[in-house]
Amino acid sequence: MRELFKPDRILSNILPEQKLKQGADYVLSQFVLPYETGGRVLLCNVLTHRIIELNEAAGEGYGMRFTGSEVGDSELLTTLVKWYFLVPEGKDECAFYEGISRMMRAYTRPKGVNSYVIMPTLGCNARCVYCYEEGMEQTSMTPETVEQTARFILETNSNKTIRINWFGGEPLAGEPAIDRICGILRGAGASYRSSMISNGSLITAETVRKMKDLWNVRDIQISMDGAEQDYCARKNYTFGGSCYRRVMNSVSAMSEAGIRVVIRCNVDADNWTGIPQFLDDLKGEVGHKDNVAVYFSPLNAIRASVDDVTMWSRIVAARPMVEAAGFKPADYLGFGSRFRISHCIADAGSAVVAPDGSLYLCEHCVPESRYGDVFRGVTDKAAMDAFARTDFTREKCRKCPFLPDCTSFSACPVEDFHCREVKEMLAKDMLKLLDEKSYNIGAPMGEARSAGLGECGAEDSHGSGFGDSLKDRFENAPGDGFDNGPEDGFGARAGSLC
Ligand code: SF4
Ligand code: SF4
Repeated sequence: MRELFKPDRILSNILPEQKLKQGADYVLSQFVLPYETGGRVLLCNVLTHRIIELNEAAGEGYGMRFTGSEVGDSELLTTLVKWYFLVPEGKDECAFYEGISRMMRAYTRPKGVNSYVIMPTLGCNARCVYCYEEGMEQTSMTPETVEQTARFILETNSNKTIRINWFGGEPLAGEPAIDRICGILRGAGASYRSSMISNGSLITAETVRKMKDLWNVRDIQISMDGAEQDYCARKNYTFGGSCYRRVMNSVSAMSEAGIRVVIRCNVDADNWTGIPQFLDDLKGEVGHKDNVAVYFSPLNAIRASVDDVTMWSRIVAARPMVEAAGFKPADYLGFGSRFRISHCIADAGSAVVAPDGSLYLCEHCVPESRYGDVFRGVTDKAAMDAFARTDFTREKCRKCPFLPDCTSFSACPVEDFHCREVKEMLAKDMLKLLDEKSYNIGAPMGEARSAGLGECGAEDSHGSGFGDSLKDRFENAPGDGFDNGPEDGFGARAGSLC
């Protein structure tokens, strides 16, 4: 047996090795994903985040039932029990996970607001056919709300560095609000950095300068929709023309300026045939590729339909095309070395500030998650607590191997029809990459988020922390058990499928 990746550091400090239980028979834990390859087996423990490899002889029969005495007589089986790969038959693993999750949250979760998703405006110069904001009033922050938002951030931030994700609408349609909020933070001597989710159409050389010099933008996600014809039809810009190549040129300029860019290409069956052309155009137009990653995200309507598995299979199979165009392909699962304490921004201590100053937990601004405003602070703690309850598990998730790495609350408006099957496919893909030692792949953003399936579903939302390599995520993660990506709209998990 070979240990490929060690378990979450904090979890292994808190969780003792599993002891042998008198008279019990042992079976593979529900949280262990096997991947068979060339006679060997990789076993990935989704609970502890430990990954091991069994050679041909050791791997034989890994999924069998073992008696206590068989375990006692075998050093390998004893280790598999100690490391929670084998568990007593009949163990309530969901309850076990819930206990560990409570403990980890109590141990590592910071108090207070640790990041902000700010919507300067719901206005947008595109009319994306799939936009979840369709029908919403296109309000923008008033000068008074802008000032109060900055004050709210200064008063509530619990991090050393304030972290903001500019979201919308199209956040650059509310550029003066971004200038003003950053100006106030700077004037107050606060340390801050930001990320942004944008369609990229309003980015100019001056915008890139401000991103660097005033807004402290480190990461940006640009949403695109395939080849030019599909892009124009779907974005349906109010000015009527195409900015397809201009957006790609802006991507190059931002990359050159040291800003990490993730291109999220929304896909469905209709624009998929244009993807080779899209990648070819990107290859030609983005001269500076160092800081650019590309990933595909099925539209929410596809995620919620029976066609989701087919779409994901195509996406996974498209990796060589992305690589051939000179960009890092994505690891869509976004699985790393750390136990997942928060599942998305809704349960990670992030505040979503809408243009009218309302505070939400979820960036979809679902009414149930509104809990206050920047003027009065928290006015509805009950709504806040109820939306992202993490103390119960949905029935369909209780026996699922992905439970420790999935959204734990049912209020999330995003649905995945075959969530488990898709995750299984993505997990096998990740293990295949590990096995091939193809570590150098980018992670879909996720802020954050990260998103594993069941995470944030805004079509233009996070979903891709930028390309920390799979190897980095397993080997160099700080291991603080927090601050790991899509949860806060920063960092590297895609959200992965968010
Ligand atoms: S939402 Fe789906 S993939 Fe996630 S834990 Fe539940 S059943 Fe599993
Ligand atoms: S994962 Fe779901 S609940 Fe969390 S922010 Fe995204 S849409 Fe909202």
